[in-house]
Amino acid sequence: MMFNLWSSRNDQPSKESSSSKKKGAPQGASSSKGQDAAAEAVAKILRTWGRHAFDLDKGDAESFTKEFERWARHVLLGTTTSEDPDVREEYPDGRRNWGGLHQFVNRHRQSEKNYVVKGFHALREVVWTFTSTVSQAFIQDQETDGHMQAHISRLKTAVVCKSPEDMKREVLAAAEDLTKLVEDRNQEERRRVERLGEKLKEVEEELGQTRQQMALDGLTQLYNRAALDQHLEQLSALNILSNSPACLMMLDIDHFKKVNDTYGHRAGDTVICEIAKRTVLTFPRKMDFVARYGGEEFVVVVQGVNLEGARALGDRLLAAIRQTFIEHEDLQLSVTISIGLAEYFKGDTSANWIERADQALYRAKQSGRNQLCAAGDPLPELVEA
Ligand code: GH3
Ligand code: MG
Ligand code: MG
Repeated sequence: MMFNLWSSRNDQPSKESSSSKKKGAPQGASSSKGQDAAAEAVAKILRTWGRHAFDLDKGDAESFTKEFERWARHVLLGTTTSEDPDVREEYPDGRRNWGGLHQFVNRHRQSEKNYVVKGFHALREVVWTFTSTVSQAFIQDQETDGHMQAHISRLKTAVVCKSPEDMKREVLAAAEDLTKLVEDRNQEERRRVERLGEKLKEVEEELGQTRQQMALDGLTQLYNRAALDQHLEQLSALNILSNSPACLMMLDIDHFKKVNDTYGHRAGDTVICEIAKRTVLTFPRKMDFVARYGGEEFVVVVQGVNLEGARALGDRLLAAIRQTFIEHEDLQLSVTISIGLAEYFKGDTSANWIERADQALYRAKQSGRNQLCAAGDPLPELVEA
């Protein structure tokens, strides 16, 4: 539905027009000024909203920012609100689609509300599950302690008063009972941790959101080292409980010094940026994390992927980079990379996880570069044997 820029019904700035009439001011000019100012204010509000948009279930922050910008431009200039450049919308005589704008804002606000409410709900559930996990473990500890106490006092009596046969029977019964008790308890604890892990998966989604606020590297616009440290810290805290696999890849451009020495530092910068882009294209999932570790080194963290899955993804990146020609001024450059891969082990700190990937990278370099080595792979000479 289309309306005039200020429709003659609800939106008419009627007070202003009638007062201008009284003073004999040029009515058209002053009301048009007022309309322009109002349109500018609406556009500003839309742009502010768009600038602070965040990822929602139905879309990402970037596309929302663009959508708000299209609406802001529509309000100011009457241009199309559609993402598709082929869709033609006609707004003659300065008309604007106020109805459409209202629907868009309403829908977006509703989605934001649903998203936030859902996020809070998930977090509340996790806190609750965690609290009940801890308290149940505490209660069970007390029960086990009670059982143990009962056995100990029976054993004490047996040692003092009973025959060796009775004593043996008491000891065996106690051992059997306690073994079962410990097994039951282990099983119950595992189940509880699994339940907690399920809940944590929902929170992992929330982490994707936190990333928006992380610091970026100036040259490549990838996450920087500080953002990587923060991400790894959160990830290992979650993985301790969630049991979901995760892998870390350390990437290093081969013989990069030669690129700088032969073609200059700026060519080197272009190569770094292009490798960064290629890497992001190979790891596009919301949960994938690509950071510049420093110089010509990058780190990729993938979640929900085991060592073999990550190896296949790493090999795909190696192949993509082998086929990439990087344009710099009138040059066409081609480089290779080496990758060290390490799977997350329970109890890993981010430092020793990175350290294992770094050692694997060292082995990839030693074995001739342009390849991937995983921590735990047999040594190259053993592969040949
Ligand atoms: P290798 O295959 O063993 O990795 O050899 P390499 O030549 O890549 O060796 P190394 O990793 O030691 O070299 C890294 C070089 O990257 C050294 C440094 O001058 C250069 N470098 C670090 N940061 C930047 C940057 O931001 N831009 C450019 N152009 N060069 C950088
Ligand atoms: Mg290096
Ligand atoms: Mg290098």
